[in-house]
Amino acid sequence: MELITILNRCHRFPGFVYQHAQFSADNKSIDVAIRPRTGSTAVCSRCHLPAPGYDQLAERRFEFIPLWGFFVFLLYAMRRVDCPRCGSVIVEEVPWGDGKRTLTKAYMLFLARWARRLSWKETAECFRTSWDKVFDAVEHVVAWGLEHRTLGQIDAIGVDEIQYAKGHKYLTLVYQIDIGVTRLLWVGKERTIESFQGFFTAMGQAVISKICFVCSDMWEPYLKLIRERCSEALHILDRFHIVSNMNKALDKVRAEETSRMRREGRDPILKKSRWLLLKRSENLKDEQQFRLRDLLRYNLKTVRAYLLKEAFQQLWEYNSPAWAGKFRDEWCRQTMRSRMEPMKKIARSLAIIANSSSTISAPQNCYPAASWKGCTTRPKSQ
Ligand SMILES: [Zn+2]
Repeated sequence: MELITILNRCHRFPGFVYQHAQFSADNKSIDVAIRPRTGSTAVCSRCHLPAPGYDQLAERRFEFIPLWGFFVFLLYAMRRVDCPRCGSVIVEEVPWGDGKRTLTKAYMLFLARWARRLSWKETAECFRTSWDKVFDAVEHVVAWGLEHRTLGQIDAIGVDEIQYAKGHKYLTLVYQIDIGVTRLLWVGKERTIESFQGFFTAMGQAVISKICFVCSDMWEPYLKLIRERCSEALHILDRFHIVSNMNKALDKVRAEETSRMRREGRDPILKKSRWLLLKRSENLKDEQQFRLRDLLRYNLKTVRAYLLKEAFQQLWEYNSPAWAGKFRDEWCRQTMRSRMEPMKKIARSLAIIANSSSTISAPQNCYPAASWKGCTTRPKSQ
C-alpha cells in the first residue's frame, strides 16, 4: 500500500491531488507534494469564494502528523487570485491550512487533543515539536470553537448552579435566555468568583457589554461578579430563589424560637405552625386561616419574620424598577433592624445588588427573562 493511497483515504480534498511522496534529502522527513487538480479554481482566502487565478508563489511546507518517527510535510505552491469581489490580488485558501500557520489543521487538532491529556511541554517532547507549536495548535482549536459557535447578540442570561457528586461539588451553568433562544452557553466547575470569571473571559467584552438582563439566584459570588462585569444590565433576582430562601430563613427563626420557648416552659403556641407560615396565605383552608390569624396576634419573632416575608411579596407588584428599588431598600432597612440573623442574611444579599445603580430585584412580569426556570434543561448528572 502506498502512502498516497492512505492519504487519499484519510485526508482527501476535492480540487487537489497528492502527487508523490519521497524522503527528504536528510532522510528525516517524508515530503508529500500536492498540486491543484487540473481545471480546478482557486478560492479567495478573504471572501471564501472561487476567483480567477493570478500567479503562483514559491512552495510552502505544511507540517502533517508524524509517522513512524518521520516528520511528514505537505509541499504546495500557493496560488494567488485576482478577486473581483475583494478588488485585489489575494492568496488562495487551502483546506488543510489556516492562514500563515505552518502546521496543517489535522496536525493542530492532533496536538491539541494530546495537550488536553499531557502538559504542553510533554506534548511537545512526545512529538518532537516545540512548545510554541503546541500553543499554536491549542490556540487554533480554541479559536475555531469560539468562531463556530455563532453567539450573535445575547440579551439575557440566566446563571444557575447545580450540585453533583452527592452534593459535594458544584457546577455553574450559564444559559442564554432570550425570547426564542434558550441554550447552554457555558459550564464551569465550582461556583466561585474565579470559576465564574471564566464565563466572562470566554464570551468576550463585546458580547458581555450588550447583555441587558441577568437572572440569577442569591449566591454572593455571582451577585458580586455580575455587578462588576454587567454593571449596565438589569439584574433580575430569580423569584423562585428569593421566596425559597425567605422560607428557609423563616423556618429557621421558627425552629429556634420553638425550642427556646420549650426550654423556658412556655405554651407551645408555635406547635404545628410550620405549614401555616410557609404556605401562601391564599392556599390555606378556612380552618388554617383562622389559626394563622390567631397566631399573628402574638408578639413573637416568628410572627415578625412571617410579616417581613409576606411584605416582600409586594415587590413583584411594581411595574417601575425605581419604585421597586425604593421598596426593596426600605424592606432591607427594616429587616436589618429586626435582630433575626437568618432574615438579615437575606437583606445583606439584596443589599449587594442594591449598591449598583441600575440593578433591581425585578417585577415579575416586565422582563422576558423573568420566568426562565421552566425553559432550561439540566444535565443528567444532577
Ligand atoms: Zn475575495
